Amino acid sequence: MIDSEVIIVGGGPAGSTCAWRLHQHGIQTMILDKKTFPRHKLCAGWITPKALQDLQIKEGEYPYSLLTLKRLNFHLYGMKIPVKTRQYSIRRYEFDYWLIKRAAVPVKEHTVRNIQKINDYYIIDDTFRCKYLVGAGGTNCPVYRNFFKKANPRTQKYLITAMEEEFKYGCSDANCHLWFFEKKLPGYSWYVPKGDGYVNVGIGGKLRTMKARGETIRTHWNFFVKKLVKLSLIRDYSFNPRGYNYYLKQNITVSQMDNAFIIGDAAGLATIDMGEGIGPSVESGILAARSIISGEKYSLESVTKYSFPHILLPSNREGMILNFSK
Ligand SMILES: Cc1cc2nc3c(=O)[nH]c(=O)nc-3n(C[C@H](O)[C@H](O)[C@H](O)COP(=O)(O)OP(=O)(O)OC[C@H]3O[C@@H](n4cnc5c(N)ncnc54)[C@H](O)[C@@H]3O)c2cc1C
Repeated sequence: MIDSEVIIVGGGPAGSTCAWRLHQHGIQTMILDKKTFPRHKLCAGWITPKALQDLQIKEGEYPYSLLTLKRLNFHLYGMKIPVKTRQYSIRRYEFDYWLIKRAAVPVKEHTVRNIQKINDYYIIDDTFRCKYLVGAGGTNCPVYRNFFKKANPRTQKYLITAMEEEFKYGCSDANCHLWFFEKKLPGYSWYVPKGDGYVNVGIGGKLRTMKARGETIRTHWNFFVKKLVKLSLIRDYSFNPRGYNYYLKQNITVSQMDNAFIIGDAAGLATIDMGEGIGPSVESGILAARSIISGEKYSLESVTKYSFPHILLPSNREGMILNFSK
């Protein structure tokens, strides 16, 4: 049996942030991940200043590409709305690898399947044993499935389906573009330039609404690709996109059971206006670590719910322009 005080299932931003904090406090921690890092992760890689701040990444410290996006171009019903801002883009392939190395804890490649709680310990696949268990395995996290699913079922209303591709491309436009509700997509599509000549293009929206209309994300993707060509943003490229589903933040009643915690996508924490998941994953990783270190109550209440609260319509918080959680 391999023992560790804390075992974190999943080494994405949620798991590696939690591990980084625990290690800083001298708590024995191990990460189990089914993939070997660096690994590909479907994600546009847009990251907010708050997330970088929470991660305490100082200017010049991050050795990979970190592009500053000084403007976001929102496109809404044919109107272009440029918004001055300071956001960033990273490549998850590099970012997650750097974060997990920085955490400085043992990382084992292992696909977690079966977890039992015996007395005060969690036994994973009859091989690993820990006192504290953190579920950071994304939407299909086995910790969520084993311990939290019953107490905390997810509402399909908040399920986002997304499709994207990231590739090297001599971009003609170095600006970030976001198109909302094109062809009645219950969500948005994006063009996010990255450093080193990469670009990420993708599309995401509410699965339930699409299903009810007999649409698929693929139908919307096909339209989107034609648009990218028409706008001369991407030309002569043969797309091979991949998809992934994840949840927007909903009412999470149970996020800790005994010494088991769920963080990041395992808890379903993406912001309800933009589907931003990296920042909330980092925040929840920090909160879970704090709870393990100090014994204080773990709650996801404070985790960011809106990426852009300042552009909510003041009169009706739930009816805001960008909210695709409805
Ligand atoms: C197409 C798309 C675009 C997105 N764009 C953005 C964006 O631009 N900005 C943003 O902030 N958010 C974005 N998101 C959301 C963001 O990617 C996620 O919210 C974020 O990655 C969640 O981090 P996490 O650490 O919880 O999970 P993940 O990053 O998914 O990490 C989970 C880890 O768990 C491992 N794992 C899974 N199952 C097991 C198992 N059984 N055993 C062991 N290991 C396991 C996986 O290998 C993985 O490494 C996007 C999502 C999608 C799908």
